[in-house]
Amino acid sequence: MSTVNKGLFDNVVQHRHHLMATENWASGLIAGPFRDAQLAIRGILRGSFIPGAFSAAALRGIQDELEELIEQTYGEALVLLDGTLRDVTLAENEAAGGILLDELPEDVRETIIFDRLRPDQIDKLIHAPFHGHRLEDRVRSAKIAAKLTVVQALETAAIAGIGVSAAGSALRRAVGGAVYPTAARMTRTEIQRVANVAMLAMFAQNSHLLGGIQYVSALDDSTCPRCVANNMDTYYFAPWRSPTVDEAPEIPAHPNCRCAWSPFSDQGEPMPRTYYEAWVAGQTEKVQKEILGLPRWGSWVAGKLVLRDVAHAVPYKRTLRPALLAHIGGMGRRRRNNIQTP
Ligand SMILES: [Zn+2]
Repeated sequence: MSTVNKGLFDNVVQHRHHLMATENWASGLIAGPFRDAQLAIRGILRGSFIPGAFSAAALRGIQDELEELIEQTYGEALVLLDGTLRDVTLAENEAAGGILLDELPEDVRETIIFDRLRPDQIDKLIHAPFHGHRLEDRVRSAKIAAKLTVVQALETAAIAGIGVSAAGSALRRAVGGAVYPTAARMTRTEIQRVANVAMLAMFAQNSHLLGGIQYVSALDDSTCPRCVANNMDTYYFAPWRSPTVDEAPEIPAHPNCRCAWSPFSDQGEPMPRTYYEAWVAGQTEKVQKEILGLPRWGSWVAGKLVLRDVAHAVPYKRTLRPALLAHIGGMGRRRRNNIQTP
């Protein structure tokens, strides 16, 4: 196995863990307007109708106000999201260059091209169609769904003949329970999207040093079968090798997808496919128990459980147990401070 390519792969995986911290921070930021909306609902209800009485006219009035509130909320969220995505795109573009500087052999390091994305290029990346839809379209769909959720909650409250405070708490639950998770999922997915395109831009710029890219799934108990099936698929920069990078699928493949691209050097073979069962079998008994949990480990050792025979990438931290965390924690060789830019 090529040590350079193992280094590139490990560094990408390690970097994706850091990206999760950014996702969490950004989800909190985008949550701001939604929390404000929850508070505003109280005011709208109090000012709009007499306790206990939902006349048709009052209902329409409240509906209009709520829809306006959702409109504003998503407007504010889009501005915050847009700004966040710009920052993330630039940071991930630089990080991809940093990974190449960290991992490629010394003799080729001088030929690494480290041209950061310009603001106009970043703008284009953020707003380019993805799976056929633009960012604005995705936000609009989420907004329409949010309006429906809130209006339905209002109608349910009206039909049930419940009073102001009960209707208010039902509506706030609708915003808190359905609308905010949607916004958080959207934020995480968009961050994954721009991180991937920003990294790809840097890798493509250095295709004179790289053989291509490999699909890295975040394998754990919540990975979808489609992403597992793509794991470690290889795409080449050279137009005469098939499949080419142009044929690579779009990542994220679906909302909350955590897949990523890892580059490989043209001086070695891509990372081989390894298999989950074989990987688990190669761990110490203590680690196996922590990965699988004791009951599953018992069944597995007794031959009653076959681990899904999937190609394996080091799983992400999100759902991992301590031993696995320690295993991954030792892998990172990110040396941000060493990044030298021309
Ligand atoms: Zn995925």
